[in-house]
Amino acid sequence: MTAPVRSDATSVAVSLGERSYDIAIGRGLIASLGARIAALRPRSKAVIVTDENVARLHLAAAEAALSHAGVATNRVIVPAGEASKSYRVFEQVCEAVIASRMERDDLIIALGGGVIGDLAGFVASVVRRGLDYVQVPTSLLADVDSSVGGKTAIDSAHGKNLVGAFHQPILVLADTALLDTLPEREFRAGYAEVAKYGLLGDAPFFSWLESNWREVFAGGPARENAIAACCRAKAEIVARDERETGDRALLNLGHTFGHAFEAACGFSDRLLHGEAVSVGMALAFAFSAKQGLLPAAEAERARRHLADVGLPTRPSDIPGPLPSIDQLMTLIAQDKKVKRGMLTFILVRGIGSAFVEGGIDAGAVRAFLGEKLAEQ
Ligand code: NAD
Repeated sequence: MTAPVRSDATSVAVSLGERSYDIAIGRGLIASLGARIAALRPRSKAVIVTDENVARLHLAAAEAALSHAGVATNRVIVPAGEASKSYRVFEQVCEAVIASRMERDDLIIALGGGVIGDLAGFVASVVRRGLDYVQVPTSLLADVDSSVGGKTAIDSAHGKNLVGAFHQPILVLADTALLDTLPEREFRAGYAEVAKYGLLGDAPFFSWLESNWREVFAGGPARENAIAACCRAKAEIVARDERETGDRALLNLGHTFGHAFEAACGFSDRLLHGEAVSVGMALAFAFSAKQGLLPAAEAERARRHLADVGLPTRPSDIPGPLPSIDQLMTLIAQDKKVKRGMLTFILVRGIGSAFVEGGIDAGAVRAFLGEKLAEQ
């Protein structure tokens, strides 16, 4: 007997020809995981890859749903945190998957945040020259960003996400109730990516968030609506530009400035990824206003919302000593290649109107950052 697949879930399609898949979004959906997998891949086995935190809280529910639908499972539990996106852990997970005698029709289930999605997705892309995998995101960031779009990776000593592959999942199952156990700071950091979709391409969604963000934090239908809106936006961008040769770069709004601060803080708990993106987006808006692209008041409106939810928006909001301007410029140059003194940035003409600009003078960025670092 398999549990009936819930019909009241919101479904968002990612249209990529033969690599198309659905994102199912709803409260309590994990109970339908086994039935959905059994429907997609009858008689398959699965290896669940998860981290220690998520295993403690949600592995039993995932395993129960799979067993109920007759899907046999093995599990691989790795330490929580970015350090698990390493060659060492990647090798351990590959070996564990191979040892569980996976066949070509079997699959990997990534149960966790973006770290697990990236790691397990990359393992799936290479073991036996490619296995199917299912994303079961458990962090807000993973719900709205990393679980959709097929980018998988581990980190190199030279930088984050430098070893990876494009490998699309066959299903994303986003159970919004799993977020109830996410630490509030992690939820808030993920919210920066939610706000990003409004800021980069959807002004009405941003206005909706300004009025409804408390309900998104509280759970309930507003959370589901927000996640669905983000997934629709990401699905549309990925369908247009699966391999990031054009428009998909818009998803990097705030990431050039943000990544420089995140790297300067050593990718540590001092500044979580989403927090860095929040600072970066506020700076991208302020920089665009300084270039005369939008009124300063509109840039301030974008910053204000991020600050209202409790996210850092100014360099001085980052705890501890700030990096020097030279350090930041070096990090920015590494992140986005400088071509004859020119940088590529995602800029904005207003809330909801981001665009890629390749001709940014590095001197203008240095002068702007110098001012921002001096502000208290
Ligand atoms: P994460 O996976 O480390 O999760 C954050 C923390 O929350 C961890 O300690 C985790 O154990 C814990 N956690 C997760 N779900 C939980 C839950 N439901 N209850 C309690 N604790 C829970 O980090 P993240 O912020 O989800 O993802 C960051 C990663 O995502 C980075 O490695 C980044 O490079 C990657 N990323 C990838 C893409 C992509 O397109 N592939 C996009 C954005 C970010």
